[in-house]
Amino acid sequence: MADNILQASYFKQDAVIAEPVGLTNLGNTCFINSVLQCLVYTLPLRNYFLSDAHRMRCKSPKACVFCELITFWKQYLKTEKGEQLSPDSFVSAIK
Ligand SMILES: [Zn+2]
Repeated sequence: MADNILQASYFKQDAVIAEPVGLTNLGNTCFINSVLQCLVYTLPLRNYFLSDAHRMRCKSPKACVFCELITFWKQYLKTEKGEQLSPDSFVSAIK
């Protein structure tokens, strides 16, 4: 299976790891922010989701938490050091 989560390429450690970005607390969302920060730095998950393997198979991209996570991930990686990112779209998707 080409996009198997256990595929060795997802465990590559050669990806550039950005400096942590501050996440806006939207009111009792500090626990979500903590989880998001952990997910961003979990390289196998990051490599899998940023490879678009999920998006190619997703049957409901407009109502999918994983697709929203991918969007968040891409925004996170574009955010400059010292800037703050709001996880509002992701938080809305999981409510
Ligand atoms: Zn999806």
